[in-house]
Amino acid sequence: MDTPSTTAAITDGLNRPIHDLRVSVTDRCNFRCVYCMPKEKFGKGYQFLAKKELLSFEEIIRIVKAFSAIGVRKIRLTGGEPLVRSELEKLVEQIASIDLIDDISLTTNGVLLTEKRARSLRDAGLGRVNISLDALDDKTFMAVNDVGVPVQKVLDGISVAAAAGFDSVKVNMVVKRGLNEHSILPMAEYFHGSGQILRFIEFMDVGNTNSWKNSEVITAAEIAEQINRQNPIEKVPPNYRGEVANRWRYVDGGGEIGIIASVSEPFCGDCSRARLSAVGKLYTCLFAADGHDLMSLIRGGASDADLNEKLSALWQRRRDRYSETRTVESVLRPKVEMSHIGG
Ligand code: SAM
Ligand code: SF4
Ligand code: SF4
Repeated sequence: MDTPSTTAAITDGLNRPIHDLRVSVTDRCNFRCVYCMPKEKFGKGYQFLAKKELLSFEEIIRIVKAFSAIGVRKIRLTGGEPLVRSELEKLVEQIASIDLIDDISLTTNGVLLTEKRARSLRDAGLGRVNISLDALDDKTFMAVNDVGVPVQKVLDGISVAAAAGFDSVKVNMVVKRGLNEHSILPMAEYFHGSGQILRFIEFMDVGNTNSWKNSEVITAAEIAEQINRQNPIEKVPPNYRGEVANRWRYVDGGGEIGIIASVSEPFCGDCSRARLSAVGKLYTCLFAADGHDLMSLIRGGASDADLNEKLSALWQRRRDRYSETRTVESVLRPKVEMSHIGG
Protein backbone atom coordinates (compact mmCIF):
# COMPACT_ATOMS: atom_id res chain seq x y z
CA MET A 1 0.00 0.00 0.00
CA ASP A 2 1.39 3.44 -0.83
CA THR A 3 2.45 5.82 1.90
CA PRO A 4 0.48 9.02 2.29
CA SER A 5 2.45 12.20 1.85
CA THR A 6 2.81 13.92 5.21
CA THR A 7 1.84 17.47 5.92
CA ALA A 8 3.54 19.39 8.72
CA ALA A 9 2.25 18.18 12.12
CA ILE A 10 -0.74 20.29 12.97
CA THR A 11 -2.12 21.36 16.33
CA ASP A 12 -5.61 22.33 17.45
CA GLY A 13 -6.88 25.63 18.86
CA LEU A 14 -5.41 24.74 22.26
CA ASN A 15 -2.03 23.72 20.83
CA ARG A 16 -2.62 19.96 21.05
CA PRO A 17 -1.32 17.69 18.27
CA ILE A 18 -3.37 14.81 16.88
CA HIS A 19 -1.81 11.48 17.65
CA ASP A 20 -4.51 8.84 18.26
CA LEU A 21 -7.56 7.80 16.30
CA ARG A 22 -10.18 5.51 17.80
CA VAL A 23 -12.21 3.74 15.18
CA SER A 24 -15.60 2.29 16.07
CA VAL A 25 -16.32 -0.55 13.66
CA THR A 26 -19.88 -1.32 14.78
CA ASP A 27 -22.63 0.02 17.03
CA ARG A 28 -23.68 -3.54 17.95
CA CYS A 29 -22.72 -5.38 21.11
CA ASN A 30 -23.35 -8.75 22.76
CA PHE A 31 -23.48 -7.03 26.19
CA ARG A 32 -25.87 -4.46 27.61
CA CYS A 33 -23.60 -2.89 30.25
CA VAL A 34 -25.82 -0.74 32.40
CA TYR A 35 -23.43 2.24 32.22
CA CYS A 36 -23.14 2.06 28.42
CA MET A 37 -26.08 0.40 26.64
CA PRO A 38 -28.88 0.15 29.22
CA LYS A 39 -31.60 -2.26 28.10
CA GLU A 40 -34.36 0.29 28.56
CA LYS A 41 -32.81 2.28 25.68
CA PHE A 42 -31.03 -0.50 23.77
CA GLY A 43 -33.75 -3.14 24.06
CA LYS A 44 -35.37 -5.47 21.53
CA GLY A 45 -36.88 -2.65 19.48
CA TYR A 46 -33.61 -0.73 19.12
CA GLN A 47 -32.70 -0.13 15.49
CA PHE A 48 -29.02 -0.92 14.94
CA LEU A 49 -27.21 0.25 11.84
CA ALA A 50 -27.49 -1.75 8.62
CA LYS A 51 -24.27 -3.01 7.00
CA LYS A 52 -24.46 -0.46 4.17
CA GLU A 53 -24.64 2.37 6.70
CA LEU A 54 -21.24 1.39 8.14
CA LEU A 55 -17.96 2.56 6.72
CA SER A 56 -16.46 -0.25 4.65
CA PHE A 57 -12.92 -1.39 5.44
CA GLU A 58 -11.72 0.41 2.29
CA GLU A 59 -13.31 3.64 3.51
CA ILE A 60 -11.82 3.24 6.99
CA ILE A 61 -8.39 2.70 5.46
CA ARG A 62 -8.72 5.79 3.32
CA ILE A 63 -9.61 7.87 6.37
CA VAL A 64 -6.85 6.34 8.52
CA LYS A 65 -4.30 7.12 5.82
CA ALA A 66 -5.48 10.71 5.63
CA PHE A 67 -5.21 10.99 9.42
CA SER A 68 -1.71 9.54 9.39
CA ALA A 69 -0.69 12.33 7.06
CA ILE A 70 -1.65 14.95 9.67
CA GLY A 71 -0.04 13.24 12.67
CA VAL A 72 -1.95 10.11 13.76
CA ARG A 73 0.34 7.22 14.71
CA LYS A 74 -1.91 5.10 16.94
CA ILE A 75 -5.14 3.37 15.98
CA ARG A 76 -7.51 1.76 18.48
CA LEU A 77 -10.34 -0.42 17.19
CA THR A 78 -13.46 -0.33 19.30
CA GLY A 79 -17.27 -0.35 19.11
CA GLY A 80 -19.86 -1.43 20.26
CA GLU A 81 -18.11 -4.74 20.45
CA PRO A 82 -15.48 -4.72 17.69
CA LEU A 83 -15.22 -8.53 17.53
CA VAL A 84 -18.81 -8.81 16.28
CA ARG A 85 -17.63 -7.20 13.02
CA SER A 86 -16.68 -10.05 10.72
CA GLU A 87 -13.20 -10.28 9.24
CA LEU A 88 -11.77 -7.66 11.57
CA GLU A 89 -8.40 -9.29 10.95
CA LYS A 90 -8.49 -8.00 7.37
CA LEU A 91 -8.91 -4.45 8.62
CA VAL A 92 -6.04 -4.87 11.08
CA GLU A 93 -3.82 -6.18 8.32
CA GLN A 94 -4.59 -3.23 6.06
CA ILE A 95 -4.01 -0.70 8.85
CA ALA A 96 -0.72 -2.41 9.71
CA SER A 97 0.47 -1.84 6.15
CA ILE A 98 0.16 1.95 6.46
CA ASP A 99 3.76 3.02 7.08
CA LEU A 100 3.10 5.90 9.45
CA ILE A 101 0.91 3.87 11.81
CA ASP A 102 3.08 2.31 14.49
CA ASP A 103 0.56 1.07 17.04
CA ILE A 104 -2.71 -0.85 16.59
CA SER A 105 -4.80 -1.84 19.57
CA LEU A 106 -8.24 -3.27 20.32
CA THR A 107 -10.72 -2.70 23.14
CA THR A 108 -13.06 -5.65 23.63
CA ASN A 109 -15.26 -7.29 26.22
CA GLY A 110 -13.25 -10.44 25.46
CA VAL A 111 -16.10 -12.91 25.05
CA LEU A 112 -15.49 -13.58 21.34
CA LEU A 113 -11.72 -13.78 21.74
CA THR A 114 -11.04 -17.43 20.98
CA GLU A 115 -7.52 -18.82 20.70
CA LYS A 116 -7.82 -18.87 16.91
CA ARG A 117 -9.14 -15.32 16.68
CA ALA A 118 -6.44 -13.97 19.01
CA ARG A 119 -3.73 -15.63 16.95
CA SER A 120 -5.09 -14.37 13.65
CA LEU A 121 -5.44 -10.83 15.03
CA ARG A 122 -1.87 -10.91 16.28
CA ASP A 123 -0.63 -12.30 12.97
CA ALA A 124 -2.51 -9.53 11.17
CA GLY A 125 -0.53 -6.95 13.13
CA LEU A 126 -2.60 -6.17 16.23
CA GLY A 127 -0.15 -5.02 18.91
CA ARG A 128 -2.12 -4.48 22.09
CA VAL A 129 -5.41 -5.62 23.58
CA ASN A 130 -7.51 -4.07 26.34
CA ILE A 131 -10.19 -6.32 27.80
CA SER A 132 -13.01 -4.93 29.91
CA LEU A 133 -13.97 -6.73 33.11
CA ASP A 134 -15.85 -5.06 35.95
CA ALA A 135 -16.08 -7.76 38.63
CA LEU A 136 -14.87 -11.22 39.60
CA ASP A 137 -18.13 -12.64 40.94
CA ASP A 138 -20.91 -13.66 38.59
CA LYS A 139 -23.67 -11.90 40.50
CA THR A 140 -22.01 -8.49 40.15
CA PHE A 141 -20.70 -9.08 36.65
CA MET A 142 -24.09 -10.21 35.37
CA ALA A 143 -25.66 -7.14 36.97
CA VAL A 144 -23.19 -5.09 34.91
CA ASN A 145 -23.38 -6.86 31.52
CA ASP A 146 -27.13 -7.55 31.93
CA VAL A 147 -27.10 -10.48 29.49
CA GLY A 148 -26.09 -13.25 31.87
CA VAL A 149 -22.46 -13.67 30.75
CA PRO A 150 -20.36 -15.24 33.54
CA VAL A 151 -16.93 -13.92 34.57
CA GLN A 152 -15.13 -17.06 33.36
CA LYS A 153 -15.92 -16.22 29.71
CA VAL A 154 -13.94 -13.00 30.01
CA LEU A 155 -11.16 -14.57 32.07
CA ASP A 156 -10.81 -17.11 29.24
CA GLY A 157 -10.50 -14.23 26.75
CA ILE A 158 -7.80 -12.66 28.93
CA SER A 159 -5.84 -15.95 29.11
CA VAL A 160 -6.09 -16.46 25.39
CA ALA A 161 -4.86 -12.91 24.75
CA ALA A 162 -2.00 -13.35 27.21
CA ALA A 163 -0.96 -16.58 25.48
CA ALA A 164 -1.16 -15.10 21.98
CA GLY A 165 1.91 -12.93 22.52
CA PHE A 166 0.51 -9.41 22.15
CA ASP A 167 2.84 -6.59 23.23
CA SER A 168 0.47 -5.88 26.10
CA VAL A 169 -2.82 -7.09 27.53
CA LYS A 170 -4.54 -4.69 29.90
CA VAL A 171 -7.78 -5.09 31.82
CA ASN A 172 -10.23 -2.18 32.11
CA MET A 173 -12.65 -1.92 35.02
CA VAL A 174 -15.27 0.84 35.13
CA VAL A 175 -16.20 1.59 38.73
CA LYS A 176 -19.70 2.78 39.53
CA ARG A 177 -20.93 3.38 43.06
CA GLY A 178 -23.70 1.00 44.05
CA LEU A 179 -22.84 -1.37 41.21
CA ASN A 180 -19.35 -2.81 41.62
CA GLU A 181 -17.20 -0.79 44.02
CA HIS A 182 -16.93 -3.87 46.24
CA SER A 183 -15.00 -5.48 43.36
CA ILE A 184 -12.08 -2.99 43.44
CA LEU A 185 -10.02 -4.93 45.97
CA PRO A 186 -10.76 -8.45 44.67
CA MET A 187 -9.87 -7.29 41.14
CA ALA A 188 -6.66 -5.62 42.37
CA GLU A 189 -5.72 -8.77 44.27
CA TYR A 190 -6.48 -11.06 41.30
CA PHE A 191 -4.34 -9.13 38.81
CA HIS A 192 -1.53 -8.34 41.29
CA GLY A 193 1.57 -10.08 39.94
CA SER A 194 -0.28 -11.43 36.88
CA GLY A 195 1.63 -9.43 34.26
CA GLN A 196 -1.61 -7.76 33.14
CA ILE A 197 -2.08 -4.13 34.08
CA LEU A 198 -5.47 -3.49 35.64
CA ARG A 199 -6.86 -0.02 34.94
CA PHE A 200 -9.72 1.47 36.89
CA ILE A 201 -11.94 3.93 35.01
CA GLU A 202 -14.15 6.52 36.67
CA PHE A 203 -17.79 6.27 35.58
CA MET A 204 -18.35 8.99 32.97
CA ASP A 205 -21.35 10.97 31.72
CA VAL A 206 -20.91 9.85 28.12
CA GLY A 207 -24.13 10.02 26.10
CA ASN A 208 -27.56 10.61 27.58
CA THR A 209 -28.86 7.14 28.33
CA ASN A 210 -26.86 5.98 31.36
CA SER A 211 -28.49 8.33 33.93
CA TRP A 212 -25.05 9.44 35.17
CA LYS A 213 -24.83 11.11 38.56
CA ASN A 214 -21.72 12.67 40.04
CA SER A 215 -22.50 10.90 43.31
CA GLU A 216 -22.03 7.54 41.53
CA VAL A 217 -18.42 8.31 40.58
CA ILE A 218 -15.84 6.61 42.78
CA THR A 219 -12.90 8.93 42.36
CA ALA A 220 -9.35 7.96 41.47
CA ALA A 221 -8.23 9.18 44.91
CA GLU A 222 -10.71 6.84 46.64
CA ILE A 223 -9.65 3.91 44.47
CA ALA A 224 -5.93 4.52 45.10
CA GLU A 225 -6.52 4.91 48.83
CA GLN A 226 -8.43 1.61 49.07
CA ILE A 227 -5.76 -0.29 47.16
CA ASN A 228 -2.93 1.35 49.04
CA ARG A 229 -4.46 0.17 52.33
CA GLN A 230 -4.61 -3.40 51.05
CA ASN A 231 -1.24 -3.43 49.31
CA PRO A 232 0.92 -0.27 49.28
CA ILE A 233 1.36 1.49 45.92
CA GLU A 234 3.49 4.39 44.74
CA LYS A 235 3.14 6.75 41.78
CA VAL A 236 5.05 6.14 38.55
CA PRO A 237 5.72 8.92 36.00
CA PRO A 238 3.75 8.76 32.73
CA ASN A 239 5.24 6.85 29.79
CA TYR A 240 4.52 9.74 27.42
CA ARG A 241 2.70 13.08 27.24
CA GLY A 242 -1.05 12.57 27.06
CA GLU A 243 -1.16 9.11 28.67
CA VAL A 244 -4.71 8.82 30.01
CA ALA A 245 -4.10 6.56 33.01
CA ASN A 246 -2.27 7.68 36.13
CA ARG A 247 0.32 4.98 36.76
CA TRP A 248 0.96 3.33 40.12
CA ARG A 249 3.12 0.36 41.09
CA TYR A 250 2.97 -2.04 43.98
CA VAL A 251 5.80 -1.43 46.41
CA ASP A 252 6.20 -5.21 46.78
CA GLY A 253 7.05 -5.60 43.06
CA GLY A 254 3.63 -7.01 42.11
CA GLY A 255 3.39 -4.88 38.97
CA GLU A 256 1.44 -1.81 37.97
CA ILE A 257 -2.10 -0.51 38.02
CA GLY A 258 -3.58 2.48 36.21
CA ILE A 259 -6.39 4.82 37.18
CA ILE A 260 -8.24 6.87 34.59
CA ALA A 261 -9.51 9.92 36.43
CA SER A 262 -11.51 11.46 33.60
CA VAL A 263 -14.01 13.08 35.94
CA SER A 264 -12.03 14.01 39.07
CA GLU A 265 -8.72 14.95 37.39
CA PRO A 266 -9.51 15.75 33.73
CA PHE A 267 -6.67 15.54 31.23
CA CYS A 268 -8.07 17.63 28.35
CA GLY A 269 -4.86 19.71 28.25
CA ASP A 270 -3.02 16.78 26.67
CA CYS A 271 -5.88 15.22 24.70
CA SER A 272 -4.59 14.23 21.28
CA ARG A 273 -7.41 11.81 20.39
CA ALA A 274 -10.02 11.87 17.66
CA ARG A 275 -12.83 9.36 17.27
CA LEU A 276 -14.43 7.96 14.15
CA SER A 277 -17.90 6.45 14.50
CA ALA A 278 -19.07 3.40 12.57
CA VAL A 279 -21.08 5.69 10.25
CA GLY A 280 -18.02 7.75 9.47
CA LYS A 281 -18.58 10.76 11.69
CA LEU A 282 -15.55 12.35 13.23
CA TYR A 283 -15.79 13.43 16.87
CA THR A 284 -13.10 15.61 18.36
CA CYS A 285 -14.33 14.94 21.92
CA LEU A 286 -15.91 11.98 23.68
CA PHE A 287 -18.65 14.30 24.92
CA ALA A 288 -19.46 16.02 21.62
CA ALA A 289 -23.07 16.37 20.50
CA ASP A 290 -22.46 15.64 16.86
CA GLY A 291 -19.66 14.64 14.54
CA HIS A 292 -18.36 15.76 11.17
CA ASP A 293 -19.67 13.61 8.34
CA LEU A 294 -16.65 12.09 6.58
CA MET A 295 -18.66 9.29 5.00
CA SER A 296 -20.71 11.75 2.88
CA LEU A 297 -17.52 13.54 1.99
CA ILE A 298 -15.81 10.44 0.63
CA ARG A 299 -18.93 8.87 -0.87
CA GLY A 300 -19.50 12.25 -2.55
CA GLY A 301 -16.24 11.87 -4.46
CA ALA A 302 -13.80 13.99 -2.41
CA SER A 303 -10.18 13.64 -3.50
CA ASP A 304 -7.39 12.72 -1.07
CA ALA A 305 -6.35 16.38 -1.06
CA ASP A 306 -9.93 17.46 -0.16
CA LEU A 307 -10.02 14.92 2.67
CA ASN A 308 -6.63 15.96 3.97
CA GLU A 309 -7.62 19.62 3.90
CA LYS A 310 -10.92 18.91 5.69
CA LEU A 311 -9.23 16.92 8.50
CA SER A 312 -6.54 19.57 8.99
CA ALA A 313 -9.16 22.32 9.14
CA LEU A 314 -11.34 20.40 11.61
CA TRP A 315 -8.43 19.67 13.93
CA GLN A 316 -7.11 23.23 13.78
CA ARG A 317 -10.56 24.53 14.78
CA ARG A 318 -10.84 22.17 17.76
CA ARG A 319 -11.13 23.71 21.23
CA ASP A 320 -12.84 20.83 23.13
CA ARG A 321 -12.20 20.53 26.86
CA TYR A 322 -15.50 19.15 28.13
CA SER A 323 -14.25 17.38 31.26
CA GLU A 324 -12.48 20.49 32.50
CA THR A 325 -15.67 22.52 32.21
CA ARG A 326 -18.31 19.93 33.22
CA THR A 327 -21.35 21.47 34.94
CA VAL A 328 -24.72 20.21 36.12
CA GLU A 329 -26.18 21.67 32.89
CA SER A 330 -23.55 20.24 30.53
CA VAL A 331 -24.23 16.72 31.79
CA LEU A 332 -27.77 17.03 30.39
CA ARG A 333 -26.74 18.39 26.98
CA PRO A 334 -27.22 16.04 24.01
CA LYS A 335 -24.07 13.92 23.60
CA VAL A 336 -23.09 11.02 21.36
CA GLU A 337 -23.55 7.56 22.90
CA MET A 338 -20.46 5.59 24.01
CA SER A 339 -21.51 2.58 21.89
CA HIS A 340 -21.25 4.80 18.76
CA ILE A 341 -17.72 6.05 19.37
CA GLY A 342 -16.20 3.51 21.70
CA GLY A 343 -14.58 5.17 24.70
N1 SAM B 1 -17.21 -3.34 23.86
C1 SAM B 1 -15.84 -3.08 24.09
C2 SAM B 1 -15.51 -3.12 25.57
O1 SAM B 1 -16.42 -3.04 26.38
O2 SAM B 1 -14.34 -3.21 25.89
C3 SAM B 1 -15.36 -1.77 23.48
C4 SAM B 1 -16.26 -0.60 23.53
S1 SAM B 1 -16.57 0.04 25.16
C5 SAM B 1 -17.65 1.37 24.84
C6 SAM B 1 -15.00 0.79 25.55
C7 SAM B 1 -14.73 1.04 27.01
O3 SAM B 1 -15.57 2.06 27.48
C8 SAM B 1 -14.95 -0.16 27.91
O4 SAM B 1 -13.78 -0.39 28.69
C9 SAM B 1 -16.09 0.27 28.78
O5 SAM B 1 -16.05 -0.33 30.04
C10 SAM B 1 -15.91 1.77 28.80
N2 SAM B 1 -17.13 2.50 29.16
C11 SAM B 1 -18.37 2.35 28.62
N3 SAM B 1 -19.24 3.22 29.18
C12 SAM B 1 -18.55 3.92 30.10
C13 SAM B 1 -18.89 4.97 31.02
N4 SAM B 1 -20.13 5.47 31.09
N5 SAM B 1 -17.92 5.47 31.80
C14 SAM B 1 -16.65 4.98 31.74
N6 SAM B 1 -16.27 4.01 30.89
C15 SAM B 1 -17.21 3.48 30.10
FE1 SF4 C 1 -20.84 -3.35 24.96
FE2 SF4 C 1 -18.48 -2.40 25.65
FE3 SF4 C 1 -20.67 -0.91 25.97
FE4 SF4 C 1 -20.36 -3.03 27.51
S1 SF4 C 1 -19.04 -1.22 27.45
S2 SF4 C 1 -22.23 -2.47 26.42
S3 SF4 C 1 -19.32 -4.41 26.19
S4 SF4 C 1 -19.84 -1.55 24.06
FE1 SF4 D 1 -10.40 14.85 25.30
FE2 SF4 D 1 -12.92 15.69 25.40
FE3 SF4 D 1 -12.06 13.83 27.12
FE4 SF4 D 1 -11.24 16.36 27.35
S1 SF4 D 1 -13.30 15.62 27.60
S2 SF4 D 1 -9.96 14.53 27.48
S3 SF4 D 1 -11.12 16.97 25.18
S4 SF4 D 1 -12.21 13.61 24.89
